[in-house]
Amino acid sequence: MITKFIKRILRRDPMVRHTAAHTSGAPKRIAKKSHRIDPNLLSKNAIKVTQTLQNAGYEAFIVGGAVRDLVLGISPKDFDVATNATPEQVQKLFRKARLIGRRFQIVHVTFFGKGQPEIIEVSTFRALLENAGEHIAENGRILRDNVWGSQHEDAARRDFSINAMYYDPASETVLDYHGGMADMQKKTLRMIGDPAKRYREDPIRMLRAIRFAAKTGFTLDEATLAPIAKLGKLIHDVPSARLFDEILKLLMSGYSWAAIQGLRDAGLHHGLLPLLDQILDNKEGSSGPKDFVRIALANTDQRIQAGKGVSAGFLFATLLWPDLLHNWKKNIAKGSSNVPALLDAMDETIASQSSGMVIQRRFESDMREIWSMQPRFEKRVGRYPYRLIESPRFRAAYDFMLLRCAARELNPDLGEWWTNFIESDPSGQEALMASAKKDSGNSGASALPTKRRRRRKPKTAAPAEPATS
Ligand code: ATP
Ligand code: MG
Repeated sequence: MITKFIKRILRRDPMVRHTAAHTSGAPKRIAKKSHRIDPNLLSKNAIKVTQTLQNAGYEAFIVGGAVRDLVLGISPKDFDVATNATPEQVQKLFRKARLIGRRFQIVHVTFFGKGQPEIIEVSTFRALLENAGEHIAENGRILRDNVWGSQHEDAARRDFSINAMYYDPASETVLDYHGGMADMQKKTLRMIGDPAKRYREDPIRMLRAIRFAAKTGFTLDEATLAPIAKLGKLIHDVPSARLFDEILKLLMSGYSWAAIQGLRDAGLHHGLLPLLDQILDNKEGSSGPKDFVRIALANTDQRIQAGKGVSAGFLFATLLWPDLLHNWKKNIAKGSSNVPALLDAMDETIASQSSGMVIQRRFESDMREIWSMQPRFEKRVGRYPYRLIESPRFRAAYDFMLLRCAARELNPDLGEWWTNFIESDPSGQEALMASAKKDSGNSGASALPTKRRRRRKPKTAAPAEPATS
């Protein structure tokens, strides 16, 4: 009788053994013909990791966003693996494995091949919070998170049902604990458990909800969306560095414009970045600073979707530009001349951000370089253009200037001139210099905003505009 029972248990999936100790049921096992994951989208290194762990007698699955993307037929940008091996046990099995993090300890297994090295993030099944009580602060926030648990618990701790599926490459089976597959079919983003409680535990989940909705085009389930209106302010308790990382992910998701609209609709944008308030609350019509940001973000999305890189410094330089432009004009109106007015405006704009999410210093210097080079595009006399294209940051500043042209903040002819200048041989460049001189007299100021639809500055020039002086 007992042997029969043991045999039955052993024949069952190992997870079922875990779940037996808990209230909720076993996962749904979804076979290949239903999930239709294309094995070609899998990372060979992720398979190596699950295989190595399984060969050593552990359980191991690809998990989280990678499974979500695989089911969607998208190539995942990175692969996470979940296992019942502890971080130390994982580390012993791989040559290049590093223990990372304190609050949430994981192992980075690195593979070197052609191109960029690939890092597979391996995490140990986490216990449910109830079983890790001493690590929770009074306000419900998770402090430390290294209490190991069963796979069932691990699934319950994940954020959305579609992010809580586990894929075993060996058997090509998906284990679905929270109805993720059904939600995929319904195109619904649903928080596991009590959404309000889950947001209190970790307010970043509200931003994740918006990001995934924008990325997948899924709708937030009513109960998942509802508490955000009230709990949105908790985001301000999140440490600035983590908030910054999450905002960066949102902006670099390839769906940034949709995500920013999502933030606004959920009332989450206030105070995140003062610039978002300004941009999204901007009541101006179709033109104005919003236009520039919309064009810049659409451009970022396009680049990311095409697999091209985008620098965070560039991105934040575009988002803060409307504020900077405002300050620049204001300083000129107060009597400063063009370049000092811009430099002061840069300080003011950066300082005004410190009330929200703090932009990291390394991006700040990139932003300053891109901005401070802008007036130089309008000086098309003497050696200036030749010197400008030699600057190490020329390319970024040039791309930025093209966005200003696209937003009609500068005359698009100026952008075209620079594009020709870069592409021309020395004699072509000379001809372009001559044409610029003809265009603008000796002032070097031909970049009138196209609203005026003129190429030449009238003799009785209007009050200085940063873009034109
Ligand atoms: P992507 O990598 O495409 O941005 P992802 O879903 O993989 O999306 P990660 O941040 O890589 O997101 O996290 C991996 C998985 O870890 C998630 O799918 C989810 O299951 C879990 N997870 C991540 N952050 C949280 C969180 N704040 N709360 C609960 N679960 C989380
Ligand atoms: Mg991921």
